[in-house]
Amino acid sequence: MIRHRFEAYLDKVFGFSDLVSALPEGRQFPQHSWKKVFDAVFLGAAMQIPSLLQMEAECRDGALAKRIGPLSDDTMAYSLERQSPEPVFALSCEIARRLKRNGVLRSDWSRGLLVGAVDGIEICSSFVRCCDACMEREVQHKVNGEMQTDIQYYHRIVGVVLVSTDFPIPLGLRFQKNGEGEVSCALALLQDLVGQLGRRFLDVLVGDALYLQAPFVKEVERLGLVWAFTLKENQPELLREAERLTQQSPAGVHTEPGREVRYWHLPEVDWPVADRQVRVVKTVRIEHQHRLTVSEQDGHRIKSKAAVTQESTNFYATNFELGSISPLFIHQLSRSRWRIDTEVFQTITTDCHLKHPAVHQTTALVVLTMIRFLAYTLSLVFYHRQVRSHARRKCETFHEFAKSLAYWFVALSPNTS
Ligand SMILES: [Zn+2]
Repeated sequence: MIRHRFEAYLDKVFGFSDLVSALPEGRQFPQHSWKKVFDAVFLGAAMQIPSLLQMEAECRDGALAKRIGPLSDDTMAYSLERQSPEPVFALSCEIARRLKRNGVLRSDWSRGLLVGAVDGIEICSSFVRCCDACMEREVQHKVNGEMQTDIQYYHRIVGVVLVSTDFPIPLGLRFQKNGEGEVSCALALLQDLVGQLGRRFLDVLVGDALYLQAPFVKEVERLGLVWAFTLKENQPELLREAERLTQQSPAGVHTEPGREVRYWHLPEVDWPVADRQVRVVKTVRIEHQHRLTVSEQDGHRIKSKAAVTQESTNFYATNFELGSISPLFIHQLSRSRWRIDTEVFQTITTDCHLKHPAVHQTTALVVLTMIRFLAYTLSLVFYHRQVRSHARRKCETFHEFAKSLAYWFVALSPNTS
């Protein structure tokens, strides 16, 4: 058996091969086992290969020729379409459980709490329908210089990602159904996650203002989660009341080099539409920067440094029992949600080709996307725990590492084990 460092690690730490072998087969008389197809797609995704056609080429005479061998893109697509997504979802939850057991989910800033961020992202928008489950909308766009209205097809997924950890770790994702809103999709995903991982797995849920809705908050509390969401204009009464109660000078000021954060803390603010009270924290962040400006005087360019201050005001609503903890913790919690967008969604769309549909069938797209997320998570874990932590000097980036995975496979020889 040819062993590759990445796969050897996954087997040692997660028993990954056994977990994949245990996945049920959706086809009746498959020529190639689901394990083989799964491995091809998983390893291809870890190497950040965009399409099944390119994976086919890698299996034929590229990086995966020795490890997988000939496998057509049709076989991969057909095989993906025939599997049910639930066992793959359960597999990624099992990985999360093992990550927790191995202490990978610990963090030093979040007071021992596991913080998950929820957010949605659009993938694969096109004027050509890709599958039966495509969502659709009318858009105006220019065709040959003239504006016209067409139906655009697209998919949206909602993800829950751990953001309290050293590097963000996706817990699960769900495709939004046609006609289903992002928030209901997020709730269904959270219910699935709690169903798989249990109530005590996640402690705090953070998200943008879209999630601050009375019914959603109620359901999140029913799942036993603490929450902190941005408060904006979509809850006008609560926002007005919070603004009115924070006219006076701040409760405290936190300063660090180049920046200060002023904060206000309201333990009980009326939220009439939800028929309850919530805790609100307001922060004003003031950044002091020196910006280089270039001006022209008598045909000469003059460079000068000017002091600029940038101010941003935020309101956060939460049910978090602060006790003796500083209200700034709510600010810190809420700001951690940016990592789902700036780190996970950015990387997985630009480097891992998430927006490239690759398969134009309903279930296949769902299963492929789940495998892509899993490959992203596990290659990121390997990168942080094995590559970065063991690097003596300057370390390659995650993208460079993913590309170098391919060379490792090429270097494998059937004679070495
Ligand atoms: Zn589609």
